[in-house]
Amino acid sequence: MNVLVINCGSSSLKFQLINAETEDVLAKGICERIGIDGSLTYQPAGGEKVKTSLDMPTHTEAIQFVIDALTNAETGVVKSLDEIGAVGHRMVHGGEKFANSVIITEEVKKAVEECNDLAPLHNPANLIGVNACQKLMPNTPMVGVFDTAFHQTMPEKAFLYGLPYRYYEDYKVRRYGFHGTSHSFVSKRAAELIGKPYDQAKTIVCHLGNGSSVCAVMNGKSVDTSMGLTPLEGLTMGTRSGDIDPAIFEFIAKKENLDIDGIMEVLNKESGVYGISKGLSSDFRDLCDAADEGNKYAENALDVFSYRVAKYIGAYTAAMNGVDCIAFTAGIGENDHIVRAKVCSYLGYLGIEFDKELNDSVRGKEVTLSLPGSKVTVMIIPTNEELAIARETLALVK
Ligand code: AMP
Repeated sequence: MNVLVINCGSSSLKFQLINAETEDVLAKGICERIGIDGSLTYQPAGGEKVKTSLDMPTHTEAIQFVIDALTNAETGVVKSLDEIGAVGHRMVHGGEKFANSVIITEEVKKAVEECNDLAPLHNPANLIGVNACQKLMPNTPMVGVFDTAFHQTMPEKAFLYGLPYRYYEDYKVRRYGFHGTSHSFVSKRAAELIGKPYDQAKTIVCHLGNGSSVCAVMNGKSVDTSMGLTPLEGLTMGTRSGDIDPAIFEFIAKKENLDIDGIMEVLNKESGVYGISKGLSSDFRDLCDAADEGNKYAENALDVFSYRVAKYIGAYTAAMNGVDCIAFTAGIGENDHIVRAKVCSYLGYLGIEFDKELNDSVRGKEVTLSLPGSKVTVMIIPTNEELAIARETLALVK
């Protein structure tokens, strides 16, 4: 069965058509600047990537252009819509309502809408994508795969904040965690690679990308993760602050005469490694190049980032009373050998023996970075959220 995987943002829509049995990607692409002017970038497997400007006032037109491209007589990969068996939607926030992927019904859409205030930028956009697909493919089953679902196994001691309990009861203020599809995918693969049953393995997944989070997966379940109510908590990220003293809020608001929106803008868009590097870049390629040329702010940014990853690894090793495997994934985790080396430089106490030379020479592929005698296995495991969504979709639709 071919599964169309959709990841819908407020003005963009990423897609992949995947043969869910063979797991081959048949075509992929992105619609951008929806509602502004619009463009479709489309690439069939083995074919050329082509970007076309197209008028797309809403997501419905964008989906129509995607379907036209997929079924195009020359560059398409299927003959008709009948060859798309299901659509899998990436959904960001399922609150406490969704601990698993679900077939999307009217009740599910209502429940997702009720989580809108937990993810005001993402959830409404996800629903727009679902509605647009349903309009054009009314008879095709749709599945929702939630970023938060995997972490619903976290115990109360991990998800409760030190706040009045009624905030949790009344407003569901608690830690939820994100990147669940990736943490689940990578931790399963890690268990396979170290040859332990998933329900007996202790893995720490470091999903390090533009947004970054660490997750402790014990016996097949997420027991803790670094993001919280929102994706702002935890690691220092590209432009997001991660954990800070909450009193900084008031201190900076007074100093800089900022209101809540102003502070949130700073914490989400002007902080992280971008802020520490004095606005040099949020991209780790730029930071590594600048650090190499002696830029001390870039070096600081890399150090702060890596040190915090190492601290979370320490915390999660304690949470699980040990760790079998530490897996690096996503843009930075898969590609940035400097960050991986910095993080692993703190982990000698775990009995980790790390192959520095191999680390320096590999990127973007599945590989073991620890030496055979190492007490903990360290790996790069490329994530594949689209494939994970296609697998979930196939399992539910079957
Ligand atoms: P993601 O959000 O997973 O797509 O990751 C995006 C981030 O990965 C970018 O902001 C870069 O900082 C980082 N990245 C991608 N490729 C490389 C590379 N070759 N070396 C270092 N960092 C990289």
